[in-house]
Amino acid sequence: MSTTAHEETLGFQTEVKQLLHLMIHSLYSNREIFLRELISNAADACDKLRYAALDNDALYEGDSELRIEIEHDEKAGTVTVRDNGIGMDRDEVIQNLGTIARSGTAEFLKQLSGEQQKDARLIGQFGVGFYSSFIVADEVTVRTRKAGTDKAEGVEWRSKGEGEFTVADLERDLHGTEIVLHLKKDAKEFADDFRLRSLVRKYSDHIEVPVRMPKVETAKDDEGNEIEGSEVTTWETVNEATALWVRPKSEISDDEYKAFYKHVAHDFSDPLTWSHNKVEGKLEYTSLLYVPGRAPFDLYERDGSRGVKLYVQRVFIMDDAEQFLPLYLRFIKGVLDTRELSLNVSRELLQQDPKVEKIKGALTKRALDMLKKLTKDKEAYQTFWNTFGSVLKEGPAEDFANREKIAGLLRFSSTHTDSATQDQSLADYVSRMKEGQEKIYYIVADGFNAAKSSPHLEIFRKKGIEVLLLHDRIDEWLMSHLSEFEGKRFVDVAKGELDLGEIEGEEEKKAQEETAKAKEDLVKRVKEALGEAVQEVKVTHRLTDSPACVVLPEHEMGYQMRRIMEAAGQKMPEVKPILELNPAHALVARLEGAEGERFDDLAQVLLDQAIIAEGGHLDDPAAYVRRLNALLTT
Ligand code: ADP
Ligand code: MG
Repeated sequence: MSTTAHEETLGFQTEVKQLLHLMIHSLYSNREIFLRELISNAADACDKLRYAALDNDALYEGDSELRIEIEHDEKAGTVTVRDNGIGMDRDEVIQNLGTIARSGTAEFLKQLSGEQQKDARLIGQFGVGFYSSFIVADEVTVRTRKAGTDKAEGVEWRSKGEGEFTVADLERDLHGTEIVLHLKKDAKEFADDFRLRSLVRKYSDHIEVPVRMPKVETAKDDEGNEIEGSEVTTWETVNEATALWVRPKSEISDDEYKAFYKHVAHDFSDPLTWSHNKVEGKLEYTSLLYVPGRAPFDLYERDGSRGVKLYVQRVFIMDDAEQFLPLYLRFIKGVLDTRELSLNVSRELLQQDPKVEKIKGALTKRALDMLKKLTKDKEAYQTFWNTFGSVLKEGPAEDFANREKIAGLLRFSSTHTDSATQDQSLADYVSRMKEGQEKIYYIVADGFNAAKSSPHLEIFRKKGIEVLLLHDRIDEWLMSHLSEFEGKRFVDVAKGELDLGEIEGEEEKKAQEETAKAKEDLVKRVKEALGEAVQEVKVTHRLTDSPACVVLPEHEMGYQMRRIMEAAGQKMPEVKPILELNPAHALVARLEGAEGERFDDLAQVLLDQAIIAEGGHLDDPAAYVRRLNALLTT
């Protein structure tokens, strides 16, 4: 065996160096996870070989019994993890074990602070993978050969995890990969049979590939004494070695579900909940879907990984099969195993297969039902909502058919609690509706405080009518795709005519009409003073404390959405607001008594203030300040 041929030493990608350094320091108390990561990779490699061999049996090289073997040497202080899976060629070794090719990596590294606990959490969230070997090893040797290649095409990779690694040619009989960890002084405890076996059981029971460890058996004589020299080593399968989702639900413990989640999701922490279903009949599939407890780093990346692990009749087909769940459920992780598709299905074929659409519909329903169930656990659901709520809000636009279901899962801030936490459901709102109230009222603003203090809420607060306070970037867009919930129409309180319906008595309405009549002259004068800046001037009954507010026509795009579109480089047509005046306000009374230039200035200041209160921008802020100062000093 020659290990020196074509040897080259290469530097790790900068990101890997940073990750290695921080990981070794932060994950000290979670060191044992290295084994889970290595077994997980070995199992993936076996899955990949089985898939590739579907077309080409020769890839097995006569050894189709896929397996993972773990050995240790206490004296040498080594642990070896070996698989007869797909293996890697030289280029793959350099790429896979020398770089991190994941979107969101740079952003992730920026967030690392050197603060141990916080970093441990973040690193766990990012996924540690192969590099976790260096938490326990001060040198790692990888020997591998890609299945189906010549024996001379093996590769040896070596590194101390300090910035560089060496690759060299290697003659290797076996295909697949062997990873030898040279344990650090303080990690020798892992070179122990009992320890390794319990870790395998803890982390890898659910992996279908058998994980084997050597067992030394000694023959005994009639008196029960061990016969010297009679030791035979046999391989013993340590894990359960059946695919978890195939087993009956009743026989799977929560811990097993959680361990499996960590394998499929490459996550570190527990999922919030899961849903395991076997469906027979017209459409046959088994699905095991999870809601993660944390957002992955690439949740908002265009090319972020999403989708389920796809199996066809237990044969692994592909990771990240994104065709089976809508985009707004991209945070869901899990497994789909179905006999509806053929084993040689590809990503391209998935796009054309009508069965895929059907399964997608079914999984979407499963996922939404799972979330609905989760709402019963208020605390867990709040965690879910805070993490993934703004993704779920994409739902009503993407999935018309499930709009009502999704609406039931939404959470908002509301004047009921006046809290920035979005924790009120539409059902909560409806149950609190006033007698005679027919609509669900909401306001959209850039931030929670802007929403909470909007003048538009004054009449609602006075009458004790609840208003939803929407302050997410996506909210206006969301509301443009939701028209009603449980038959109650949504109404933006900052748009169109204020219609409180039955809540207002006849007398109130009559009084309003009378006031409007009495102020006709004032309204006309203000309109003349403001000219083209406003569409209309009116007397309002929305306000109690503020002198004026601006209202947009009912079907006009709101200020929040306009800003988003403008920021995206879209040129938006000018909107002319309607100015509404509060006749009971002292400033409006003063306006009524003013003449000439002073009248014009006051009218303009009222309009500008109303726009500012709405979160809008003034075309000429300096002019506003000048006018206001003039009014303050005279
Ligand atoms: P991940 O498993 O999330 O892709 P890892 O850091 O664990 O990330 O592994 C990086 C890559 O190295 C894998 O995607 C795979 O291509 C390759 N790899 C790791 N271990 C093995 C193995 N035992 N056999 C074949 N390829 C492997
Ligand atoms: Mg991995």
